[in-house]
Amino acid sequence: MTTTIEIPKNWRASLGSFSKAIDGSVSLNFSESGGSNCDNSCKMKAKGCYAIHTEKMKPSVATSGERKRVQGVVQTCLDYINQLERLRDNTIPWIRFSTFGSVQDTLTQTQKAVFTKLLIECDRVGEHIHFPVETEKKRKLYQSLCDAAGLQIVVRISAQTLTKYKRYLKQGIAASIVFSTGDNKKQRLVNAEIFAHETKTIVCPAVKSTILKQDKVKCGDCIACSVPSLNIIYPQH
Ligand code: SF4
Repeated sequence: MTTTIEIPKNWRASLGSFSKAIDGSVSLNFSESGGSNCDNSCKMKAKGCYAIHTEKMKPSVATSGERKRVQGVVQTCLDYINQLERLRDNTIPWIRFSTFGSVQDTLTQTQKAVFTKLLIECDRVGEHIHFPVETEKKRKLYQSLCDAAGLQIVVRISAQTLTKYKRYLKQGIAASIVFSTGDNKKQRLVNAEIFAHETKTIVCPAVKSTILKQDKVKCGDCIACSVPSLNIIYPQH
């Protein structure tokens, strides 16, 4: 349930770390997971996605996300821009939007202008960017900001069904899907690899290495999610 909270004086949104990616990577979050920014059509919201689960274990992450949502997208973007502006070009190997929570599904003209400035800074300092969203409305909105600014950033939609995933592939839309067919992690991985073969897409190497307990693959070593022409299957684990 979404709550409103007091924001301490002088508190600022700060760039987060992202342990699934190589050293030096950062995450940019705009809300808590499962709150009002996360669309109710996301099937993982009702099931309690990994991010909601993590925030239950680490309430400070949820509090940080809530503060970012409550202070508003303009101030949160400005806080991030202020930190990114101090960095040299191409110094962050991997930037991940919305490790927790999600972005708003509408923006005012002012919010669009500031978010665009943030995207431009991310493009300048980041080598690779992964920007996932859970609805078509958000994909169109944020992709339009990237396109209008002439940025090569792809906004990747998380498909809610296998049928929609296949439709996005046909339409040339960058997509991903959480693959949940199978009774256990290994079975889901096997089934995901069959589906990936059928759809000429790829299974996330990070998830695969986790399920098979192999040497861990990290985002930044693999850059698939930042590549517009690739589509990604995440076996549920
Ligand atoms: S496919 Fe590659 S870039 Fe995407 S989440 Fe998996 S490891 Fe990271």
